[in-house]
Amino acid sequence: MEKAVRRIGVFTSGGDAPGMNAAIRSVVRTAIHMGIECVGIRRGYHGLINGDFVTLNFDSVSGLSRRGGTMLYSARSEDFKSEVGRERAVATCKLLGLDALVGIGGDGTFRGLLTLADKGLSVIGIPGTIDNDIACSTYTIGYDTACNTAVESIDKLRDTMQSHERCSVVEVMGRHAGHVALNVGVACGATAVLVPEQVVNYETDLVEPIRRARLSGRTHFMIIVAEGVQGGAYEVAKQIHEATALDTRVTILGHVQRGGAPTVRDRVAATYMGYEAVRLLAEGKTCRVVAMDGESYVDYDIHEALAMKKGLDQQTYTVMRALTGVQ
Ligand code: ADP
Repeated sequence: MEKAVRRIGVFTSGGDAPGMNAAIRSVVRTAIHMGIECVGIRRGYHGLINGDFVTLNFDSVSGLSRRGGTMLYSARSEDFKSEVGRERAVATCKLLGLDALVGIGGDGTFRGLLTLADKGLSVIGIPGTIDNDIACSTYTIGYDTACNTAVESIDKLRDTMQSHERCSVVEVMGRHAGHVALNVGVACGATAVLVPEQVVNYETDLVEPIRRARLSGRTHFMIIVAEGVQGGAYEVAKQIHEATALDTRVTILGHVQRGGAPTVRDRVAATYMGYEAVRLLAEGKTCRVVAMDGESYVDYDIHEALAMKKGLDQQTYTVMRALTGVQ
């Protein structure tokens, strides 16, 4: 018979994302509801190695859903990548009496969880990243808030670009994935969107859409570039200026996209995922990632999840190309 889970640890790791707090709250409240104790591990794997923890109860997560960032802090830990570090993490879990861990983060965090599962701990991952680049899940916590933050800033930029008849090149987050850029580009009616998944042809993907828009009378232009696009936003701006002589300005939105109160979508997704994580542990499951398949909540074996691949949403990509006039 499976050993009942009595005490679990929850932590956030890797890049933070709005909604992580709502997930922590949900894990804690669901655990309490199921008669399981909950300990918060601070600063991801770093805290696990150093015994940096806080006991969490019903009240300690009150009002947390609406708060951006993560109350448990997030960090990247090089020490955890060594066997010595991992042994120390396991020792902390023993000391704290933890039967299981819930890690909220990205693929790196899930890889870390696997190493702890090999050492006998029960582990569950929850996908939290603004980039929406976790293959097993159609949605990751933080994506909607980050896109909304970017769109809000771009709408403001557009006002001034329009007044001065300029071309704006806005770099949004996404080192390896263009989901944010594509979604934001469609939402704000960009002239062109460049993503790292596609080799960029400056002439056809960038200059032609600008020329076409110019011919139809437009005097300001909005280009959305994902962080990971080769050359980055400054190279894109240079190419535009050389080809069109337009007054071109670069704005890098940067970390502002990681902050702010989570949207309804992120709060709800985080809350469901937190619930599912504890439910799986209570049912004796381990080594799973909670995920979304469309609007449904599902779970996958972590090995299976890490082997999956995710491309750009083709429907959104097709719509973007149609609206920007790219052939
Ligand atoms: P994310 O979880 O957002 O993908 P990282 O890739 O930075 O972020 O991973 C977060 C942390 O997970 C790392 O700092 C490291 O401690 C741990 N980690 C990442 N990859 C591995 C791995 N292959 N084995 C063990 N731990 C890992």
